[in-house]
Amino acid sequence: MGRHFYVHIPFCEAKCPYCSFYSVAGSKLQKEYFDALIKEIKNTKDEASDDPSEKDTVYFGGGTPSVPDEAYIASVLGEIITVFNVSDAEITIEANPHSLTAKKAIAYKKAGFNRISLGVQSLHDTTLKTLGRLHDRKTALDAIEIIKGAGFDNISADLMTGVPGQTIEDVLEDAKTLIDAGITHISTYSLSIEEGTPFEKRYGTSLEDPDVEIYERQMYHTLRKILEEHSFIPYEISNSAKEGFRSRHNSSYWRGVEYYGFGAGSHGYIKGIRYGHEDDIEKYIKDPTRKIVEEKLTEEDKMAEYAMLMLRTMDGITEEGFKARFGKSIPDDIRRKMRSLIDKGLCEEIKGGICLSRKGLDLANEAFMEFL
Ligand code: SF4
Repeated sequence: MGRHFYVHIPFCEAKCPYCSFYSVAGSKLQKEYFDALIKEIKNTKDEASDDPSEKDTVYFGGGTPSVPDEAYIASVLGEIITVFNVSDAEITIEANPHSLTAKKAIAYKKAGFNRISLGVQSLHDTTLKTLGRLHDRKTALDAIEIIKGAGFDNISADLMTGVPGQTIEDVLEDAKTLIDAGITHISTYSLSIEEGTPFEKRYGTSLEDPDVEIYERQMYHTLRKILEEHSFIPYEISNSAKEGFRSRHNSSYWRGVEYYGFGAGSHGYIKGIRYGHEDDIEKYIKDPTRKIVEEKLTEEDKMAEYAMLMLRTMDGITEEGFKARFGKSIPDDIRRKMRSLIDKGLCEEIKGGICLSRKGLDLANEAFMEFL
């Protein structure tokens, strides 16, 4: 039985040119922001439905949670643990190699974090430069040693694919080096050009060139295969983990269960209502309990969303999973859509249901559209 908590830390050292997440460069208003977070947590009722198949999880994401002073982070985690009586939980913090120090990693461990997700992106300095990241290969590898030295054994790393100039050999070398360094979970993301970012100006639609897309897909599948050969089980489109190291927190999103979202720009889902906060630090500080979006989901919405999210996972949509989540069989309209996905070659049959086929992994958005 568990509940899930997401905390958004919107501070970064500098804005990466491809990023469209809500975050601000610089450290202004940190104290005020963390005071507001504590106020929001204190004013939140413990009323989420328990997730029967998972223990408690807490996830500090960003932005870059390793940018602010570690004492702020520890005080917010302490508040969540106290207010919601959290115990025996998976507690993750995202960190970037450039801002993570040994002092911070030790403080996170002491505060109760037991998992770190490190934004490595690449171990090739030219690729890191293209991405406008502040760290280089050495800093990233040093950060992994710092994390291990602080006593963490559950370490995830993000890798980016499809970066201009990056080769399949580069990505495979990155993955092998991370595996050798003791990483237990790898998330892979393909670079996408987002509206309004400096990358949009720099690259426009050039990454949509069919040859570029085909090469990126080869990169993705080769990486996935290499990870599998090193006992990293692909359990979701973008995630592979060693046995026992799946992200419990992210898995809860894909099962469509309830979770709290604290902080500017965060979203939550409690008592059947999806909500969102202002993605503006100053507005959030003024009234951290204010929700700017509140949408009540019908039972049909919940089932369609569950089907769409479970399609991201290699567990897929199954009769057994549906019964466990909703206490009933897969409804006829969802069954029809599942059949249509098989007919289109986007999904394949598995025991009691379907999951994405190889073609579906490449055209996942097209598959997800079926449930929108
Ligand atoms: S560090 Fe992450 S959140 Fe911050 S600007 Fe870069 S990509 Fe965006």
